Amino acid sequence: MNNIILDKINRFTRRKLSEDEVYVFSVILCDNDIDRDCERFSDEALEALKERFIGKTGIFDHEAAAANQNARIFDTELITDSSRSTAYGKPYRYLRAMAYMVRTDENKNLIAEIDGGIKKEVSISCAAAKRICSVCGCDKNTASCSHIKGRKYGGQLCHTVLDDITDAYEWSFVAVPAQVNAGVTKKYSEADTVKAQAVQTSSAADEELRRDIRKLAYFSGGRAAADIASLSAANLDTQQLIALRKAFEKQCGKSRAEVQLNTSAAEEETTDMFSMKEEG
Ligand SMILES: [Zn+2]
Repeated sequence: MNNIILDKINRFTRRKLSEDEVYVFSVILCDNDIDRDCERFSDEALEALKERFIGKTGIFDHEAAAANQNARIFDTELITDSSRSTAYGKPYRYLRAMAYMVRTDENKNLIAEIDGGIKKEVSISCAAAKRICSVCGCDKNTASCSHIKGRKYGGQLCHTVLDDITDAYEWSFVAVPAQVNAGVTKKYSEADTVKAQAVQTSSAADEELRRDIRKLAYFSGGRAAADIASLSAANLDTQQLIALRKAFEKQCGKSRAEVQLNTSAAEEETTDMFSMKEEG
């Protein structure tokens, strides 16, 4: 590992870490190809995600009661693979991230599995303010058209282009792939890694939990529910936050697909909409 890498990592640490203390690995966060939900990111969206994912923590299993949040992205890179083209005939581009973990007894096994090259899917969650119809160019967040994604028009596959990224929340390794929920989940790609045991630390982790809770509350009850959840999460400790998130996950697991299919709830918020990018 060279010093440039270590310097980049140490921008995010409370004290300077040495080479022996960190484990570095790469993951592919997302790409520009049409996914199984017939959606894709625009080039601008990929550029925005490249910036926004720096410093973001990753979790190793959405369902884990105490999610392991000790991996952090310290660098990102957009790579064009000209040997491959997308379904719509453009060069394939993907966003690769470099992440680190502080080596601990708890994540020893995880690191061994990552080293072993076990392939798992990565999901990201982010907010896209625009969802553009590939046929007519209208923004489906604010307008509607008659084109249906997945159908062909003039020989071209109709899909939704996710654009105008307003936030990036998290990335995660999904150990057990979730069901594909139309309209909810999307981007996934492969990474060299796998599920981990949980270590819950620091107030940063609490902040992540509060954000998760808000997000989940939003999905189950809209803006008002999210505000209430934020208020009640404000004074909880880590264990309580985990329990609350679990409760919301349970509720959300049931209602997420419906909430998203009933687009009115999600699309009222055009500037800060949670277009969940998570996929198993
Ligand atoms: Zn259209």
